[in-house]
Amino acid sequence: MNEELRCIGCGAPIQTENPEELGYTPNAALKKGEETGEVYCQRCFRLRHYNDIQDVQLTDDDFLRLLNQIGETDALIVNVIDIFDFNGSVIPGLHRFIGNNPVLLVGNKVDILPKSLKKSKMTQWLRERAHEVGLRPKDVLLTSAKKASDIHMLLEKIEQYRKGKDVYVVGVTNVGKSTLINAIIKQTAGVKDVITTSQFPGTTLDKIEIPLEDGHCLVDTPGIIHQYQMAHYLGKKDLRITAPTKEIKPKIYQLNAGQTLFLGGLARFDFVQGERTSFIAYVSNDIEIHRTKLERATDFYEKHRGGLLQPPRPDEIADFPELVRFEFSIKEKTDIVFAGLGWITVTTPCVVAGWAPKGVDVVRRKALI
Ligand code: GDP
Repeated sequence: MNEELRCIGCGAPIQTENPEELGYTPNAALKKGEETGEVYCQRCFRLRHYNDIQDVQLTDDDFLRLLNQIGETDALIVNVIDIFDFNGSVIPGLHRFIGNNPVLLVGNKVDILPKSLKKSKMTQWLRERAHEVGLRPKDVLLTSAKKASDIHMLLEKIEQYRKGKDVYVVGVTNVGKSTLINAIIKQTAGVKDVITTSQFPGTTLDKIEIPLEDGHCLVDTPGIIHQYQMAHYLGKKDLRITAPTKEIKPKIYQLNAGQTLFLGGLARFDFVQGERTSFIAYVSNDIEIHRTKLERATDFYEKHRGGLLQPPRPDEIADFPELVRFEFSIKEKTDIVFAGLGWITVTTPCVVAGWAPKGVDVVRRKALI
């Protein structure tokens, strides 16, 4: 790594090791840049040449600094979250950082949820969850970044609420923020070089500014990783299995107390106590669910993880964290959420336990569906 060099687009120190972090430049591009005296990091390069925004990730401290700066501006905040992973994509304490700025909450990836689910119900649910974490959004909007009509609607809402101000788009990584912004660029600009990058004052964090009609900007900010998401324990191949890309087909299980479901080898759900009842699993269609007896479940897992119970794949089991148990006493219809993986809806009062790899959260929440 060359400590001296900085990207002339965003000012981030150039590094050649980690493609997912600020300032990454492939070695070949670095050599070329050194010859011409102009080095762009890959992110700025792609942005200049292809109008294509790439993800970068920030440390927690950098992210907090960024949020603080946004708090000092007078702007509309567009907070993008992944509706399939609300708990994993909400920014803790966002409301404390952004001052009095209005928030438009965008629940993205709505195409993943069953089409039968009413949008009004989902919006209301999202609003309630936002209130629980202290966020009082001006409005809540559901989008699929892949659908042009949704982008259109998003732009309309932004116009409605920004009232002549700048717009800051914030979100944790993987919620689809880049996909949304790229779609916005395609709809609004489509011309090269209309996008500029600049720095947050006093930092090396770059922001991408997309000009709006009245001289104001829509600003894309880098994302932050939520450490407790399942994604951090999985390889790229596994993520293709666990992250749903299509509409989820809910799977219904009639279980007696003393039965267990395994979500691949990634998580486990025990029906501990209660009358025979139904449980509905909302996970990627590609995750295989296995049913077994609770009393044998631990042995079963030992024996079959990496085999019958995949992911993790056989070469990953050595590094895969042990499963940790969380018990829940359920009174009303509740989702037991495995951060980033999906959830199981419990329909009647009973006692259940959810197990997830150490470091990954299992939480309860009011049922979405
Ligand atoms: P960012 O880290 O927030 O910028 O997220 P990306 O834009 O890179 O998207 C992360 C992943 O989610 C990619 O695999 C996208 O293809 C996918 N994605 C983004 N938006 C949507 C959406 O609306 N629906 C679905 N099904 N997938 C999406």
